[in-house]
Amino acid sequence: MKEIDTFVTHLECSYTGKTYPADQLHGLSEAGKPLLVRYDLEALGKAIEKEDLEGRLPEFWRYREFLPVRKSENIVRLGELMTPILPAEKLQNEYGCGEILIKDEGRLPTGSFKARGLALAVAMAKELGVTRMAMPTNGNAGAALAAYCSAADIETYIFCPEDTPKVNIAEIAFQGGKTFLANGYINDCGRIVGEGKEKMNWFDVSTLKEPYRIEGKKTMGLELAEQLDWQLPDVILYPTGGGTGLIGMWKAFDELEAIGWIGSKRPRMVAVQAEGCAPIVKAFDEGTRHAQPWLDAHTIASGIRVPAAVGDFLILDAVRASGGFAVAVSDESINEAHRECAQKEGILLCPEGAATLAALKQELVSGRIKADEQVMLFNCATGLKYPMPSTHHTIDLTQPIDYDFIRDC
Ligand SMILES: *Cc1c(COP(=O)(O)O)cnc(C)c1O
Repeated sequence: MKEIDTFVTHLECSYTGKTYPADQLHGLSEAGKPLLVRYDLEALGKAIEKEDLEGRLPEFWRYREFLPVRKSENIVRLGELMTPILPAEKLQNEYGCGEILIKDEGRLPTGSFKARGLALAVAMAKELGVTRMAMPTNGNAGAALAAYCSAADIETYIFCPEDTPKVNIAEIAFQGGKTFLANGYINDCGRIVGEGKEKMNWFDVSTLKEPYRIEGKKTMGLELAEQLDWQLPDVILYPTGGGTGLIGMWKAFDELEAIGWIGSKRPRMVAVQAEGCAPIVKAFDEGTRHAQPWLDAHTIASGIRVPAAVGDFLILDAVRASGGFAVAVSDESINEAHRECAQKEGILLCPEGAATLAALKQELVSGRIKADEQVMLFNCATGLKYPMPSTHHTIDLTQPIDYDFIRDC
């Protein structure tokens, strides 16, 4: 049983600053807001140097000093590799803009970056003795939860809106999650989990309703900084649902600055949403710190169909502090960007990732993104999980093969 160094000092309410002890099971703070993990950053900074990372495996557990897990035996590994940053040079030339980089998170276990958050949440749940977990999900989070919990021998109950992509529903159930479809939105599913807590004795692992998923998503910020040799990009476009990744990266940058690995320069953080579900964009434009729940949410980008986010103020604070903005794109522009990237770059984005490309195109025109800026897009899941338009041709093998037809197709 090898103890690993952790520098966690306490948890802190992200809204009131009230502190809570670490090493105990926590959901939201008493104020009903997300709890953030705090570290002794001075000690952390003394314990590790950038060079120490070089000899470690290319996986996100290489940042273990920045993470809260105490005992390595509680870590469940499914191959949490560092994801590649792909340059999109052809699109860059076509749009006449600065460098376009795509962080391709679809390579992670269960095909999405939800693996980062859930790997941490499950390791911590194991450490704190949880044996049953529940969550509402639009798909990818449930898949990651089911996989990590099955590996960790934790029971899971997973609630999805009935129009969750079919692949997701199947993979959640096939990987051992007890899977339920409900005729409503993710917030309605969240209510089932919240209200069932006492009767079902499960731990609620909804986005930001426990403190550790955000720590997992934080590794995106650590990782991209390391991959870019500790120089952050000018702009990060992030497809924003619950916002865990955006908030997590912002936290990562602060922690890296505190230990002197980066300076005070930050990327402008751009929260990308779909026109059919854009509560954060509306709040940003209206200058408010909290978002109103979005009614009749709809978009093909199911991962960002989140009508109300408990961490809305954390997203908005980070976006504003960074000098960034929030922007909505149409489903048509998502489809167009999806096709363009697949056919020109050979990169199969998920619709949420395509939304960031659509936003880039739109904002280069509006001027909110400048033509000389280095931009990082987030592709959060493998495109293979989503329906794709098929444009194939058919051949009748009972007839002579018509190569003229084949050539002209
Ligand atoms: C969950 C998800 C998002 C949104 O991530 P948050 O950090 O919760 O905002 C975006 N894209 C995909 C594919 C997702 O699964």
